[in-house]
Amino acid sequence: MFLSAEMGITGVNFAIAETGTLVLVENEGNGRLSSTLPETLVALMGIEKVIPKLNDLPHFLEILARTSTGQKLTCYTNFISGPRRNGDIDGPREVHVVMLDNGRSAMLADPVLREALYCLRCGACLNVCPVYRRIGGHAYGVSYSGPIGSIVSPNLFGSATAQLPFASTLCGACRDICPVKIDIPRMLLHLRWKESTGEGAPVDFSRDSARARAGMRLFAAVAGWPSLIRIMLRIGALLVRPFAREGYMRWIPGPFKSWTRGRDFPAPRGR
Ligand code: SF4
Repeated sequence: MFLSAEMGITGVNFAIAETGTLVLVENEGNGRLSSTLPETLVALMGIEKVIPKLNDLPHFLEILARTSTGQKLTCYTNFISGPRRNGDIDGPREVHVVMLDNGRSAMLADPVLREALYCLRCGACLNVCPVYRRIGGHAYGVSYSGPIGSIVSPNLFGSATAQLPFASTLCGACRDICPVKIDIPRMLLHLRWKESTGEGAPVDFSRDSARARAGMRLFAAVAGWPSLIRIMLRIGALLVRPFAREGYMRWIPGPFKSWTRGRDFPAPRGR
């Protein structure tokens, strides 16, 4: 497929202003194949990917690999500084760079949210997030998931994702692990504040509000009675035991069935 493709499309991890170089970091090799074999390369990048100088790059490469996969350096680090020159054995004959704004300038103008543009997409905050680890990336509905996705997505994709900042415990694990020290909980609170004051993209809670309110009322009633919770957990553990395998339920009926459509549910442990 790569050998016969006429055009390759890639992302960009860093773009160096000083040299005009696009840097593509990956472990699989598909980025290198896409950017060297086809005659035409189209590279898509957000405007925040630009860094000033080549000398700045080693530091970014090091922290990106270390915090995303624990490597010293990723397997492939590609540098593309233009079309193939006379004498080059491979590389595209045409290179097109598409720089996307899509709400990034507005984030830059917001003194609190601009910090989110420092993100290297290392994924460390996703790996430590207790919410992401339970629900998985698909539940966010867009390509940017996890804690940083809950900040970036409402600004890039608008009201369809405006409820994401509310799906967080604000535990702060994301802020602690982030290699560029982005204060994610602060920004989540800022987005919640913007929504509550009507400054943010409007959140449509109407579809689930009646169910959510009833669920919260039930939770509030039960949460004040630890002994009742203990009894319910024991009864729950006994009831689900025939349906659980290795501590997880593959399918549950009723209002929770959407959960098990894409992931397993941890069976109650009884205590
Ligand atoms: S916010 Fe920080 S930890 Fe999360 S992906 Fe971006 S750089 Fe990595």
